[in-house]
Amino acid sequence: MTELETRLKHIRDRLAELEAMAREDTTEAAHRVTAELTRELNQAIEDAADRTEGTDTPAASEPRAPRDPVEKCPRCTLRSFTFQDGTIRERANQPGHFEAQYHCMSCGHEAWRELGNR
Ligand SMILES: [Zn+2]
Repeated sequence: MTELETRLKHIRDRLAELEAMAREDTTEAAHRVTAELTRELNQAIEDAADRTEGTDTPAASEPRAPRDPVEKCPRCTLRSFTFQDGTIRERANQPGHFEAQYHCMSCGHEAWRELGNR
């Protein structure tokens, strides 16, 4: 379970508590819990937004195919080293950095190339 899930579950539990208070007409306590929950929810929403913008979610920040999908081949030096669609992956030791496979249409050389970030 993620930390965010734990917090959201906690908020849900407090809401159940609040519902019980509403039944028993304990207005002051209900107001206090409402304020707490609003603060917690706002914080969770903020954190969730940070998370989708950050590098924690590689799928969201994955770069598109390069504008120019053909490069000079490092082996035969012909301009036929071609980006292979659907091969984009995150670099093993560099979170937030992506690479894609290139295949030379001329000599058949294949290699992984780092992609520019967006
Ligand atoms: Zn080549």
